[in-house]
Amino acid sequence: MRFKQDFFEQLTGFYSQVYPQPISNPHWLGWSDDAAALIGLSKPNDELLMQLSANHAADGASYYAQVYSGHQFGGYTPRLGDGRSIILGEAIGPHYAWDVALKGGGPTPYSRMGDGRAVMRSAVREFLISEALAALHVPTSRALAVIGSDLPVWREGQETAAITVRLAKSHIRFGHFEYFSYTEKGNNAKLKQLADFTISQHFPHLSTDKAGYIQWFNEVVAATAKMIAHWQSIGFAHGVMNTDNMSILGDSFDFGPFAFLDTFKEDFICNHSDHEGRYAFGQQPGVGFWNLQRLAQALTPLIASDDLVQALNQYQRYLVDHYLLLMEQKLGLAEVKFAQEPSLTDEAIAEQQKQDLQLVGEFTTLLETNQLDYTNSLRRFGELDVSSQKSSLRDDMVDVAKFDHWFARYQQRVGKVDDVANWQRDRNAVNPKYILRNYLAQEAIIAIEEQGDNSKLVQLHQLLRHPFNQHPTMEDFAKRPPEWGQGLIMSCSS
Ligand code: AMP
Ligand code: MG
Repeated sequence: MRFKQDFFEQLTGFYSQVYPQPISNPHWLGWSDDAAALIGLSKPNDELLMQLSANHAADGASYYAQVYSGHQFGGYTPRLGDGRSIILGEAIGPHYAWDVALKGGGPTPYSRMGDGRAVMRSAVREFLISEALAALHVPTSRALAVIGSDLPVWREGQETAAITVRLAKSHIRFGHFEYFSYTEKGNNAKLKQLADFTISQHFPHLSTDKAGYIQWFNEVVAATAKMIAHWQSIGFAHGVMNTDNMSILGDSFDFGPFAFLDTFKEDFICNHSDHEGRYAFGQQPGVGFWNLQRLAQALTPLIASDDLVQALNQYQRYLVDHYLLLMEQKLGLAEVKFAQEPSLTDEAIAEQQKQDLQLVGEFTTLLETNQLDYTNSLRRFGELDVSSQKSSLRDDMVDVAKFDHWFARYQQRVGKVDDVANWQRDRNAVNPKYILRNYLAQEAIIAIEEQGDNSKLVQLHQLLRHPFNQHPTMEDFAKRPPEWGQGLIMSCSS
């Protein structure tokens, strides 16, 4: 790893320098070649294992924990910070420099009552979901590796510690701005310094003046909306959308009790501690907006409130546009619009969007009322001959009459498909066959816990690298969960 230290050198006072504490008997549980390539690495080696388990110092690393605050479940916590994640610096890759962080690397000045560690099950889950989302083309932080150990840690019972080696284009969160706006108020010099750093590092096409700030906030709104549109389109629930878990780049970030929907359920809750359903699947678009409002509030010393409001007002349009784009591709609606009617007026496009949104909404309602699996139902479009009344999708329905009513309008909207095989191939290229179902992650974790065997984890990770492909020997991984694995709700203790 070749590091630069821009955050560390330019933002003194925004972090605490702290050395990670080693984990004993470290061993690779998972390694991502894809993530490694991002920072110019190829294969794992023993020395790297010693460095990433904090047993050896890494050349050129700085080791620091960032300070930030955040709104957690609606309430402001004045100071959070990296309680168990220690950043080594920005590793220079062929296209970007990626922060390398040891999540679970030991206590920091921000650990509060925590031990600074991550348990193996949560480290494995973060590793898998980071790489799985990337393969689904969802903007996300990445995971280079997950490293197991025999260091005991205590949660509900005794478990073992592990480290996820996280790569992120930036670890700057909405909560960073909240911290320097409210908790460490000063004269806003630090808030400005942080905004300038963020812009010059990650939005280099923008200036660090009044006009640049406005444009920057607008881009943050757009990126956040886009990320959430992606989540909604693939049935992903993050579970803990606190403002300290929202990346300023709109990358999916800080994974805990996340889950993919099995059966489609708008009010699905994946977080054991989320009693009110604040972060339920269907709430995510609204929470994204609420979080952006908190960010806007923190930025009022830099950006006039009228400009902030104007940018916030674009959120819904960004989100709906992007969600529709993704869903139109999934259902096979997109090509029609552009191929058949290239000269549509703005009003006609808006009307078509409205109708498509309705068509999509009625489809998900059908899935919900018929208790169907979200991912597998969308995958059925890859088997569909739109001209035929018969389909596997129809066969799945209990309320066939309602489906037929929907399907007639869908057929009309799609129109004539000349090359059915090609149309089906296009659907399969955007509707994954394989997702990280909770029970699959759970099986991989149990094999490690009970037999010290990481082969299931490796197999699952390799499968999820190519979620759109057929893997004939791995059909079982695409199935709905067995009874024990349905509606698994994850605890926040991680
Ligand atoms: P999270 O919900 O994982 O995003 O964590 C919220 C806050 O709690 C962050 O500031 C974390 O760094 C901190 N935290 C979570 N788990 C631990 C732990 N085991 N030790 C120290 N800090 C922790
Ligand atoms: Mg967090």
